[in-house]
Amino acid sequence: MPVDAVKLVEQAREGRPRAVARLISLVENASPELRAITAELCTGPRPTRPARIIGLTGSPGVGKSTSTAMLVRAFREQGKKVGVLAVDPSSPFTGGALLGDRVRMQDHATDPGVFIRSMASRGHLGGLAWATPQALRVLDAAGCEVILIETVGVGQAEVDIASLADTTIVLLAPGMGDGVQAAKAGILEIADVFVVNKADRDGTQATVRELRNMVALVDRPWKPPIVTTVATRGEGADEVLAALAGHHDHLAGSGELARRRRARARDEIEAIAVTALRGKFGHLHGDLRLDALADGVLAGETDPYTAADELLDAL
Ligand code: GDP
Repeated sequence: MPVDAVKLVEQAREGRPRAVARLISLVENASPELRAITAELCTGPRPTRPARIIGLTGSPGVGKSTSTAMLVRAFREQGKKVGVLAVDPSSPFTGGALLGDRVRMQDHATDPGVFIRSMASRGHLGGLAWATPQALRVLDAAGCEVILIETVGVGQAEVDIASLADTTIVLLAPGMGDGVQAAKAGILEIADVFVVNKADRDGTQATVRELRNMVALVDRPWKPPIVTTVATRGEGADEVLAALAGHHDHLAGSGELARRRRARARDEIEAIAVTALRGKFGHLHGDLRLDALADGVLAGETDPYTAADELLDAL
């Protein structure tokens, strides 16, 4: 069934949940209608102020879902319309974890001021870089003032989330040597706010101290604040909100917000162009051409740089 992009976008702008859900499904499935939808979203009427995008990342089990639910509640208390995008970059293994998210989100299931969507960014979509901005744009159009992106994956996904968000919260829990792991994984680089969740557990202060020592070494104008929470009881939500507001003010005041948003727009254009280019190779030359070039490299007749030039020249 062909999609009426303009109508669907219009309905999403009115905040109709079914239209929002449908649009995000079209993003997830890389629908051919996406181009028209994205054009309509980008060049049609837009919210007066773009949504604040907040990324939430951390190892499995630290309490990302519980914290997301806590933050949704806190933002709702401020009267803000909230979007939640749970992204699983590792694709086929989504079911369980995301089902869990939905269960914890049941509080908000009937609230018209909350949109919750999970999205598996399958390999063929070009991953997070390609699909997430489009899904964010849908939630933005639906009038969300705050959008929380929660990643289910670990590793590279955390870094990707950081490049998609205005503010990245890195969640840790006491014990488990999380602080040390954080340093190793380069999480210090991406954290705008540290949250030590499960502060009802032993070792919270030790983790905070360890983080404080690491943050002291940060050589950037913004030193990530460290907040403790007990997400299951909603404790520390106000402090997290204050830290987020502080970072947002810093971003806006320093010009960094505009810089981050521009970098995101660039990344998105690049991701679409690279995907299109791949499609062109396949379309024009088929795999046979690539196979022939690969054989040439393996046989020592050419090198991969020259082969790549040949591929590009043929376009
Ligand atoms: P995620 O995998 O990072 O999304 O973590 P979850 O939100 O699923 O939480 C993992 C487990 O930790 C669940 O059993 C939560 O109930 C529990 N949990 C979350 N926050 C807290 C907390 O502040 N204190 C304690 N004791 N448990 C928590």
